[in-house]
Amino acid sequence: MAMPKLQLHTKILLAMVVGAAFGLLANRLAWGTFVATYIEPLGTAFVRLIGMVIVPLVFASLLVGTTSLGDIRSLGRIGAKTIGFYLCTTTVAISVGLLLANLVQPGSGLAENAKSRLIEGAAQQGGAAESPRESPSIKDVLLNIIPTNPIRAFAEGQMLQIIFFSLLTGVCLTLIGAERGGPAIRFFEAVNDAMVMMVHLIMKVAPFGVFALIAAVVADFGLHILLVLAKYSAVVVAGLLMHMLLVYSLALKLFSKVGMGRFFRGIRPAQLIAFSSASSSATLPVTIECAVENLGVPRHICSFTLPLGATVNMDGTSLYQGVAAVFLAQLYGMDLSLAQQLTIVLTATLASIGAAGTPGAGIVTLAIVLGSIGVPLEGIGIILGVDRILDMCRTVVNVTGDAVCAVVVASTENQVRCTPAGE
Ligand code: ASP
Repeated sequence: MAMPKLQLHTKILLAMVVGAAFGLLANRLAWGTFVATYIEPLGTAFVRLIGMVIVPLVFASLLVGTTSLGDIRSLGRIGAKTIGFYLCTTTVAISVGLLLANLVQPGSGLAENAKSRLIEGAAQQGGAAESPRESPSIKDVLLNIIPTNPIRAFAEGQMLQIIFFSLLTGVCLTLIGAERGGPAIRFFEAVNDAMVMMVHLIMKVAPFGVFALIAAVVADFGLHILLVLAKYSAVVVAGLLMHMLLVYSLALKLFSKVGMGRFFRGIRPAQLIAFSSASSSATLPVTIECAVENLGVPRHICSFTLPLGATVNMDGTSLYQGVAAVFLAQLYGMDLSLAQQLTIVLTATLASIGAAGTPGAGIVTLAIVLGSIGVPLEGIGIILGVDRILDMCRTVVNVTGDAVCAVVVASTENQVRCTPAGE
């Protein structure tokens, strides 16, 4: 079924502009309560609607995808390529962030009194009192992939556990043979189709949801908030743009035949939803539809790479954590050694794997990165004010990175359709 691509993303874009203008007006006129009471719930309803589809969609599509692979070895190959690609791009993303922050030095140029005001303000707020201070051990992360109770995994939306259980169920349905497994597979095919249809229906109200989400954020923070930490915010945004336009384009050029134009046009609806919702998990159903319908990636590859990516791959978040760590170190007058910068690469990679694809998850796990290099955790309070807007930007990169991986993996498997569905 074809999504009305061009029309849809034009409408969403328009909704964003109108939402921002309305939000600015509301901010000026102090209509905060009105927006919070009557407008914001529309956005929340939209995010909940897409969120509602995630668990059944991922379970059914991954199960059906696994049974359609035929050959279990190809599953291992796709898995290895996906994880390898995610680790490489995350490492590159943090390096881009570190490089830019070291070059531009956003934390060094501030006037002494501005610096001490920021630090004192953060100390009064108590910084990140509830943030985790240590990264979970690799042993725990791996063990946690196996659900002790799949129903609990579904109820809690534990994506890695759901992926593990769906793959195994798909493999076992194949192993028991077509005669016995067939009815269950056909059942889940129908569930999968119904969930895809649900995403299409929900996307019809996306412009209203996006309008409400953007209006609420702008009414709450105003745009002047970015000026307070202008240099730091500019470095984060420049890094994100560089990573998206250079690194992803290079990856697409080297490993796929999908051109930049087609890729960025195709993924735009997902980017717009990612920006408005600041959640790569909530965007997941839209990312899957964009990859299947606009980029020609087969559903069985999308249903594995994209849910995994929404959980473990966060290039934008890790790039931002690199910049934030160096910025705060500069602000506190600390010189970071090469070993400390390498520690940032390692801990930001682990932190981005551990972070959920939800708004603000990245600033919570930033505490792990800061703790590993001895930067005071109160520093988090300094950058908290601008975090929501930077979160929206980094979520776009998180979602785009997942889609690049799906295209690259499908291309190396020779499975990208030249003429995507719906074109
Ligand atoms: N909001 C981001 C996401 O959902 C995570 C973060 O960086 O806070 O991808």
